[in-house]
Amino acid sequence: MNLVTYMSQLGQRLGCIYVPKCTAFKTESRQNVKGAVFGVRRGYLLALACTQIGRNRGLSLLVRHPKSTAGAQTAGVQIKEALKNRPGFSSFFGKKNINATEDSVLITWSFSVTKTKLDDVVNVVDAAVEEVSKYAPAFAGKCEDCGVAEANEFILMNGLPGYHCSSCQMRIAAEKQREADEYRARDANYVVGLAVGLMAAAAAGSVWGWLIGLMEADSGKWSPKLHAFMAILVSLPICWLMFKAMGKRDRVGQALAVVLTLAAKWWGDAIYFTHVDMHVGHQAFSWQLVADVLRHFFDYKLYDGWHKFVTAADVLLSFAVPWMPWAAVPKFEQLFQTINPDGTLTQTMAQMTDAL
Ligand SMILES: [Zn+2]
Repeated sequence: MNLVTYMSQLGQRLGCIYVPKCTAFKTESRQNVKGAVFGVRRGYLLALACTQIGRNRGLSLLVRHPKSTAGAQTAGVQIKEALKNRPGFSSFFGKKNINATEDSVLITWSFSVTKTKLDDVVNVVDAAVEEVSKYAPAFAGKCEDCGVAEANEFILMNGLPGYHCSSCQMRIAAEKQREADEYRARDANYVVGLAVGLMAAAAAGSVWGWLIGLMEADSGKWSPKLHAFMAILVSLPICWLMFKAMGKRDRVGQALAVVLTLAAKWWGDAIYFTHVDMHVGHQAFSWQLVADVLRHFFDYKLYDGWHKFVTAADVLLSFAVPWMPWAAVPKFEQLFQTINPDGTLTQTMAQMTDAL
């Protein structure tokens, strides 16, 4: 049975809807595989999905309950303990991870579609809901933000199920919009940013050049793959320090990050080539030697096929820096969606606000 069939059958068994195009559990390290199943069980909101963390596939179950009740802060901890100690629960699937917050419990098991019976999953979902119900009340048809307005249909807020009335949706979206506007209006300090960026680039490039020079130059061997990948690592401290000094990430800063990354990598390469020449010519280090290398820099960089490969990788990776997490412009995103009976999604109101 393939995963799509498995998930839609699981949805039917639980009285839930399978939404193939949802990424409810997506984080920087965790991927959602083939959508998620959403629904209500005894008044609690469920989200169930196959997730991938690194190379490990897991089954993730999210049970949501309202947070604005007395004792809700400790409920999460109590639920986590109760689930750990529940007979039968601990043996299910073996390796698992329970994460409880003030309004939800997230359980992830290692998981194999071919080996896990639907009945077992349904049983374990019911067990989790039962345990949660001992410590936290179910949703009772009210908006979970204001607690006043009626909300009988759950919706997805950035992929997570919840009850949000339309005026609260508008208020939350407006808040996000204001955050985005404030960020956009902020002044970036390019002068300080550039100064810090230049120093960081000089330092990061020098560290790379000296280290690889000491590691490789004397042996006469080199690892082109390591050299090809290094621009990414070099960009990390440069971006981190420069954007901190600049106070904001924007397109100008990203353009500087590209140039500084490439300059830093190639400055390091020049030091590395100097070390290679020192080894070949039995010479001591001198800035005169570095200057000679810099004069013929592209003769070194385009020396043979592997050198050309590294040079191309340097350029490509430097231009990819604006898409790296440490250089990307922040997004202020608030997405509200309703789930249709056929498992498609409709946007209720959307704020896809780029900070630019
Ligand atoms: Zn509300």
